[in-house]
Amino acid sequence: LAFDNHSWTVLERGWLSSNSIVFHGRERTAVVDTGYVSHAPQTLMLLQERLQGRTLDLIVNTHLHSDHCGGNALLQTHFEHAQTLIAPGQAAHVSQWDEYALSYTPTGQSCPQFRYDGLLQPGQEIILGQTPWQIHAAPGHDPDSVVLFEPQSRTLISADALWENGFGVVFQELERDDAFAQVASTLDVIEQLAPTTIIPGHGSVFHDLSGALSRARTRLDKFVQNPIKHAHYAAKVLLKYKLLEWQSCSVTQLRQWHAATAYNTIVHRNFFSGIGLEQWFDDLIADLLRSGAARREDDLLLNGD
Ligand SMILES: [Zn+2]
Repeated sequence: LAFDNHSWTVLERGWLSSNSIVFHGRERTAVVDTGYVSHAPQTLMLLQERLQGRTLDLIVNTHLHSDHCGGNALLQTHFEHAQTLIAPGQAAHVSQWDEYALSYTPTGQSCPQFRYDGLLQPGQEIILGQTPWQIHAAPGHDPDSVVLFEPQSRTLISADALWENGFGVVFQELERDDAFAQVASTLDVIEQLAPTTIIPGHGSVFHDLSGALSRARTRLDKFVQNPIKHAHYAAKVLLKYKLLEWQSCSVTQLRQWHAATAYNTIVHRNFFSGIGLEQWFDDLIADLLRSGAARREDDLLLNGD
């Protein structure tokens, strides 16, 4: 569950919740990303274990997808004096708490309202633990995401811009806004930083940068050549995420959620309008069952491994 370094700890919890990185510096403590709302009490408990009686001074978010900031509200309530820093792109949406612009409504995901106290400006640095971390813009998966780089130890917090095997769904592409080129240029930025330790948004800490970059670029090329493949993958990710959250539900319940959730209908309209929405849903479920990502017992769908 936890990967310990002398200055930081990664709390790794699969795909429903992003990794959280805990810093226990002499001056102040911090956490980068706070997981999904349904794990928030667990996030607080794990954080308290790591802080060993100290308070939390700083909450930092690489980006504001529901699986990266779903614990913010609980942590803000529990640690009254903690300051919260976010990337600048969505600051106005957080102030107005625009759940549509923040992606929670169109993805059909939840995130309790939180406030922010300051911004992570790309080009600037932030002290986490004992050392300054550079803030780099990392558009692609999310146009407003940042990644954090510590040059002394060459450690990168890569969020969902680079995983050991790939990168996160490129949401703008689902709306037919070009963003694959941004994914590519963010991979180039990461290559130039040349980290030797990478803490991804999901999955274990890894060290093989060139292998990860090569896998990510192969995947990106496949998507650029055939954006329908990316759209199909994204549609399955959204369904799988809901199954991860619910663990089990009736086929009817998931079908209703699917039809009522904007990103599903947008992807259907933009990429799969040749088949009916219901048929498309059935095809996606069949795919998830085939791969083992879901299991079926009578009318009940269960989350698979
Ligand atoms: Zn994300």
